[in-house]
Amino acid sequence: MAYDDGNIFQKILRGELPANKVYEDEHVLAFHDINPQMPVHVLVIPKGAYTSLDDFSTEASPEAQAAFVQALGEVARLTGVDRTGYRVVVNNGSDGRQEVPHLHAHVFGGRRIRGAVVRPEA
Ligand code: 5GP
Repeated sequence: MAYDDGNIFQKILRGELPANKVYEDEHVLAFHDINPQMPVHVLVIPKGAYTSLDDFSTEASPEAQAAFVQALGEVARLTGVDRTGYRVVVNNGSDGRQEVPHLHAHVFGGRRIRGAVVRPEA
C-alpha cells in the first residue's frame, strides 16, 4: 500500500497538529492517544513514512527499527507502567483494524487489562 502523506500522524510529525508528547528522539515520537482506552495509552510512531510493520520491517534502517523497540521500553519507564505491567499492540491493515495508515504501537497500562483473548469478528 502506498504511504498516504496526509494521514493524521504525518501531520503531527510535520507540526501541523498538536500532540501531547511523552518521548522523542531522532527516529521516534511518542504521544498520548487522543481517546485513551486505559489510564496510560501512548502511541509510539517512527518518524519515517511507513504504513505498517510490513514496510517498516523490510525498508527501515536497522537503527530506526532498533530505536522503535527501544522507545517502547522508554515510554514504559517514563509512564511508570514498567513497574506494574503493560501491553503493546500494533494493528496492521484491514483485518488488524488499523485506522491511521502510519505505523504506530499502542502502549496500554495503568490498570489491569481484562482478558488476553483476541476474538475474530462474528
Ligand atoms: P489504530 O486503530 O489505527 O491502531 O489506532 C489509531 C489511534 O489513533 C486511535 O487510538 C485514536 O484514538 C488515535 N488518534 C486518532 N487521531 C488522533 C490525533 O489526532 N491525536 C492523537 N493523539 N491520537 C489520535
